[in-house]
Amino acid sequence: MKADTSAAAIPDRKTERHWRDSAIHVLPFLAIFGFAAIVPMVTNDYWALIATRAAIYWMLVSGLNLVVGFAGQLAIGYVALLTLGAYTTSVLVSGNVLPPFPLFAAFGVAALFGAIFGVIVGLPALRLRTFYFAMSTLGFATIVTQIALAWQSVTGGGIGIAGPEFPPPFNTTTGLFYFCLGCAVLGTWMTANVAHSRFGRALIAIRDAEVATESLGISKPKMLVSIFLLAGAFAAFAGGLFATLQTYITPDAFSFDLSVLFFIAILIGGRGSILGPLLGTIILTLLPEFAAPLAAWSTFLYAVLLLAVVLVAPGGIAALLDFKNRRPLQSNRAIIPRPAVLPELLSRESAHTTIALRDISLSFGAVRAIDGLNLDIVPARIHGLIGPNGSGKTTTLNVISGYYAPQSGTVSLGDTELPRGRPETRAEHGIARTFQTPRTVGEASVLQNVMIGGTIAGQGTLVESLLSLPRHRADERMLEETARLALRVVGLESLASVRADRLQHSELRFLEIARALMLRPRFLMLDEPAAGLSVDEIARLGGLIKEIKGQGVGVLLVEHHADLIFDICDQITVLNLGRVLAAGTPSEIRQHKEVVSAYLGG
Ligand code: ADP
Ligand code: MG
Repeated sequence: MKADTSAAAIPDRKTERHWRDSAIHVLPFLAIFGFAAIVPMVTNDYWALIATRAAIYWMLVSGLNLVVGFAGQLAIGYVALLTLGAYTTSVLVSGNVLPPFPLFAAFGVAALFGAIFGVIVGLPALRLRTFYFAMSTLGFATIVTQIALAWQSVTGGGIGIAGPEFPPPFNTTTGLFYFCLGCAVLGTWMTANVAHSRFGRALIAIRDAEVATESLGISKPKMLVSIFLLAGAFAAFAGGLFATLQTYITPDAFSFDLSVLFFIAILIGGRGSILGPLLGTIILTLLPEFAAPLAAWSTFLYAVLLLAVVLVAPGGIAALLDFKNRRPLQSNRAIIPRPAVLPELLSRESAHTTIALRDISLSFGAVRAIDGLNLDIVPARIHGLIGPNGSGKTTTLNVISGYYAPQSGTVSLGDTELPRGRPETRAEHGIARTFQTPRTVGEASVLQNVMIGGTIAGQGTLVESLLSLPRHRADERMLEETARLALRVVGLESLASVRADRLQHSELRFLEIARALMLRPRFLMLDEPAAGLSVDEIARLGGLIKEIKGQGVGVLLVEHHADLIFDICDQITVLNLGRVLAAGTPSEIRQHKEVVSAYLGG
């Protein structure tokens, strides 16, 4: 077979592509930081000071970017954590309360405080919706400033307190600049590592496809708490640097303008990007310098800039720089799944258990969506679920996958009853699903979307990703390989690097199947996968589903296309108004009088 020769060639091509991609990503950062590094050499102390300020702001913004740009949380009061870090380091070093701390120990304590308060401020985000969370971060900012003002014996109140001083060689303007630049580079590297890890992808999935993340076993509270920890520590550390740069701090050094700057830098930079917000931070720090007569108007300038970006380039700087996704796509492309590759992907032992629904009932107010339903999903069998619109098919899927808690009845997998209303518990049991309306991350590439499906298969922790340790790199390799395999199975591998929002509807349906296959599922539930597909595509979809079943997977197929249902199902349940109208093999259902007269037009 010719596969032998190509298999030998693939690793080379892969590493080559990998290096080229990495170089393209790293180059702009090298240019920016390289240019920054020569600022003190070619300009005066004043500009070195401005550059230091930009580096410190970026230290904070890089962490906040994961909260705002990636996880999509409206944290607008982050100046509070800068304040907290600035006062913590200054007070500890000065010896106002305890014996004076060594400088770097004080920074460590500040980062720890920042992490703790980052989580406390963030907690409301786990329950409150966007705007309330935004208000609570703002409230926290006000409280911190008020405490700094009132707690005179420690903070010096309105008179202020001296900032910490760095030892040589960092005690000069240039020395401090290089220290802060080093921190900024480190911050960039760490947050980029997180962004390109399963955690970073889970964050954007929480932002843009929250419902889908639950079905993939991703825990939103856990993810958000870890990111709040990180962003809080970064922000408070930046606060310590800020106090050093200022040499003397008072509460009014931490104005609301700063919070606005941090937040807007991310918005004009573009969500889900690192380069964009970095450029955003630099632009916003420099802007008042170039518009010196307008310095008092800086907030106004930011607002104008933000409006301009929202109107002209809604995706921010990152979208402007995304040249790759401007190339037109081939218009008459076809999806050709390769079911033959499936065994490589689904190497998991097939299930011996059955998903059993017993006497499930669920009402929404007066609507009885499901009424006493019994249904089994058996390994290596395709179970078709049909019925008119509103008959309870999707609701049944939502009950099995834990989105809805039925008022009575049980869903069990073998001997274990699956917890009701807990969708994030299904993935670990190997129960995967797709959605009637595809739920994907439009701003992420097709490959990344599929990799999101394998989030829980990774072994490394967030800290290992932060520092790009071996387990993180192994996870990334494994996830990318598996995702490329899944894309080959569904026939989308040529679109791997394309943004998902550029795909056609039918392609999104196959994309969702690939993502579900990343769980190496024992059970797969498909909600109208053929809707919007051409006749050819439906036939190929049918072949793919049959092959998935052939690998021992139990399939639940909700569909309207009678041909597909009768062609591939082993068992069919017909619902009407939440009740089972008929159940049996395809040939039995074909002869069922009521079904035939109602749905099959016979
Ligand atoms: P199908 O998928 O068979 O078209 P569904 O399961 O989506 O039907 O809906 C069954 C019934 O339950 C419909 O009457 C629908 O309006 C109702 N329903 C489904 N989900 C909800 C919900 N979250 N809130 C209120 N009613 C709902
Ligand atoms: Mg439906």
